[in-house]
Amino acid sequence: MSRGKSFIISGPSGVGKSTILTELMKKRDLYFSVSATTRDPRPGEENGVHYHFIDRETFQKWIENGEFLEHAEFVGNCYGTPKRYVDEAMEQGRDVILDIEVQGAEQVIALRPETVRIYIAPPNWEELERRLTSRGTDSPEKIRQRLERAQEEYKTAHAYDYFVINDSIENAVRELDSIMTAEHCKPAERYAQLAD
Ligand code: ADP
Ligand code: 5GP
Repeated sequence: MSRGKSFIISGPSGVGKSTILTELMKKRDLYFSVSATTRDPRPGEENGVHYHFIDRETFQKWIENGEFLEHAEFVGNCYGTPKRYVDEAMEQGRDVILDIEVQGAEQVIALRPETVRIYIAPPNWEELERRLTSRGTDSPEKIRQRLERAQEEYKTAHAYDYFVINDSIENAVRELDSIMTAEHCKPAERYAQLAD
């Protein structure tokens, strides 16, 4: 059995990453890496499912114990990817999804350059603001900070391997699904399969 692949999904807060990943996971077997964060849960978010919600002191301990593959600060909170579960899932041959922002993505690429990076963009900035507002989970000030951060991050999106525009959920899911399929058609993996 070949090792699973890892895919980084980045894109502005509110662009629809969680929404399209939820749909994609109905079509493909994917391990969603559950990050740790110091931010408060949103209504409907469950500890251990959407995030591991931990305090700053615990976050610091996890850093010191080398538990994170990467970690970064985003709009006043800390976010990090616990390494162990990612590695276990890949060993089991499962593809792994890392929903992380661009600083974390750079750290992962420095360590594991084979990771595939996919950037999810909104059709336009007005629509992004509308989605962030209609989600109803952030204060106007937090929305402003998230939009500012989105415009900053957008400047680095050209470094990603793929660029998907989330105009409709259906299109975005189809493109993500196709990208992942294509990544499994690379010669190295196919030769290994034939040699099994
Ligand atoms: P993210 O995980 O990127 O922060 P969410 O998945 O929480 O974003 O989506 C933010 C909001 O945008 C949600 O209310 C969601 O229902 C909505 N949304 C997601 N994709 C689309 C789309 N293609 N068209 C319209 N609304 C969308
Ligand atoms: P949110 O608070 O909207 O759930 O996430 C805010 C941002 O943090 C998003 O861009 C999301 O991709 C990113 N993020 C979530 N988990 C991680 C993580 O483990 N590491 C990093 N670097 N970013 C993360």
